[in-house]
Amino acid sequence: VPANEASVPAAAKPKTNENVASNGERMKATFVTLARNSDLNSLLGSIRQVEDRFNSKFHYDWVFLNDQPFSDEFKAATSAIVSGTTKYGLIPEEQWSFPDWIDKEKAALAREQMKEQKVIYGDSIPYRHMCRYESGFFWRHPLMDEYEYYWRVEPDIKIYCDIDYDIFKWMKDNNKKYSFTITLPEYKATIPTLWDTTKQFIKENPQFLNDNNLMEWISDDKGETYNGCHFWSNFEIASLDVWRSEAYRKYFDHLDKAGGFFYERWGDAPVHSIAAALFLPRDTVHFFNDVGYYHVPFHNCPVDPEVRLAKKCVCNPQEDFSWKGYSCTAKFHTINNVPRLKGWENFAD
Ligand code: GDP
Ligand code: MN
Repeated sequence: VPANEASVPAAAKPKTNENVASNGERMKATFVTLARNSDLNSLLGSIRQVEDRFNSKFHYDWVFLNDQPFSDEFKAATSAIVSGTTKYGLIPEEQWSFPDWIDKEKAALAREQMKEQKVIYGDSIPYRHMCRYESGFFWRHPLMDEYEYYWRVEPDIKIYCDIDYDIFKWMKDNNKKYSFTITLPEYKATIPTLWDTTKQFIKENPQFLNDNNLMEWISDDKGETYNGCHFWSNFEIASLDVWRSEAYRKYFDHLDKAGGFFYERWGDAPVHSIAAALFLPRDTVHFFNDVGYYHVPFHNCPVDPEVRLAKKCVCNPQEDFSWKGYSCTAKFHTINNVPRLKGWENFAD
């Protein structure tokens, strides 16, 4: 593993630390962003919003990961606006290249076919490395070792509402392991054999299936087929233990050996989601309905006006995706029997 490139301590920055000081407990938590140097300008807007809405009160660290060394410009600009300590990590080459068991010609043919079928990112090699990295490796980066929770942030996202409480502490206090803001079904053309590969894993390792799992949310026929429902992983606040677990490590290895990250175009979102749905107790998975989030092309905007006012949200509830027919979020509420935001039915279609 290559040495860490750099680290800019928060101690060098002015801050108040009021909220952390007042409740006394600081979580072992960090933001984490995978990015290219060329993502800098789209990323700065994301960071600014996360800082303004949340982190300027808590000063959590921010880990940046890249398959290329970060430029000085990238490090200077991001360190200038993150209120916590910033850390910059290089991804080892073996985690961002074709494993030796992959038939490159077969992979190239698959990309060609997907290009013809106009599958989004169907012909991209780096996108596949990205999906495999976010599935199997970001949580193993040495810079992540000291943390218990993370919040994943991507370029060009928006946070619509104030988060005036320590959201990491909230996760821990409420025994939540994985959280999301947006759900939808995956394009089937990107995952033709993901479910069969998963079923094979479960058959060989039935002990990993949680007794109180969310199978009902991802399968409409008791596990026979996958309905495609997934948590959109460009937003994730989660416990790193989910991925550090024996169940997930073995599941990832099983998927990786099957080759679907390259022969198909398996996304980290369905991979994370299937694992969370099968290996976690269902009540440890949480929908945040008070954060407000956007990643092109979907919005999460709290539909209850009281929530929007209390949290100073700046979004249009008409654009909220949560209760629309294509979203899987209503089903999540139904099967878990949890209450929906007031007035949700006025925003369903
Ligand atoms: P989309 O949201 O599925 O359209 O994919 P993105 O282009 O947003 O990529 C997902 C995340 O991976 C973002 O945080 C990107 O900055 C990052 N990313 C994508 N491709 C690469 C790459 O080739 N190298 C690096 N270092 N990061 C990448
Ligand atoms: Mn993105």
